[in-house]
Amino acid sequence: WSAKTIAVVTGANRGIGFEIARQLALHGLTVILTARDIAVGEEAARVLREGGLKVVFHQLDIVDHESIDSFCAWVKEKYGGIDVLINNAGISYNTGSDNSVEFAEKVIKTNYVGTKNMTKAAIPLMRPSAEGARVVLVSSRLGRLNGRRNRIGDVALRQQLQDVESLSEDLIDTTMNKFLEQVKDGSWISGGWPQNNTDYSLSKLAVNAYARLTARILSEKPEGERIYINCCCPGWVKTAMTGWAGLTSPEEGADTPAWLALLPNQSISGKFFAER
Ligand code: NDP
Repeated sequence: WSAKTIAVVTGANRGIGFEIARQLALHGLTVILTARDIAVGEEAARVLREGGLKVVFHQLDIVDHESIDSFCAWVKEKYGGIDVLINNAGISYNTGSDNSVEFAEKVIKTNYVGTKNMTKAAIPLMRPSAEGARVVLVSSRLGRLNGRRNRIGDVALRQQLQDVESLSEDLIDTTMNKFLEQVKDGSWISGGWPQNNTDYSLSKLAVNAYARLTARILSEKPEGERIYINCCCPGWVKTAMTGWAGLTSPEEGADTPAWLALLPNQSISGKFFAER
């Protein structure tokens, strides 16, 4: 890895994303720290640059198509492409044992649809290299398909989502839409959805499934043009998202995503990681 390696981190103005940006830059990469708010993003990048790191800011809001397009055009023009993409941006509206679905649409639109759209836009920009380009999706254990305590009740649907050969974007989208329809008519409570942080858990389940699906599609790329995509859980981290109630620091939370992005001799794709 060198300053010629271009890494993009979404939602990097604070929390785990800021730390991922710092850790990748400490490895000598050029990091493009992105944020939806220009002022806070520029300030975050300035702090890292003052520490001697190669960090550049660019605006990026993952739910805004124009923002994604203008970011991608800029990165192509300025750097010729991307080597590492960390999709970290995400939202949650529940802390502790609250389980409101008031913002379910927004949560799925950001965590799943935004992450998917950003990944789709970035893949054509991923540069061919001997190491292979890397995409990491910062997800959550709450989105595990077969988590013991927090999973979809419908066994047939779980099996469909688990079968990577038949898994499709349509199946993931249909599952999310079915949940959102039930949110609208109030039937979601008895709909057999995960019981803990329901909207957030489902959004991350979709992210995990999307990682497996995309890994399957990308596996057709020839040697030299390989792109590896994996997802991970940062742990329960003390950030704004958890109301600073987590167990670990953002530094520890960023460890697995940064490590996963830089794994040497990587041929692993479509997998879920936690604590390395
Ligand atoms: P924070 O709330 O501290 O940071 C979230 C970041 O995402 C912020 O920079 C936020 O920007 C950004 N963001 C939100 N929406 C958008 C958008 N539309 N476009 C671009 N950026 C956006 O949370 P964390 O650092 O804790 O979370 C980082 C990731 O880790 C998330 O994906 C989260 O789901 C995941 N995660 C976190 C856990 C934890 O315990 N903290 C546990 C498991 C997973 P802004 O400042 O403008 O709001």
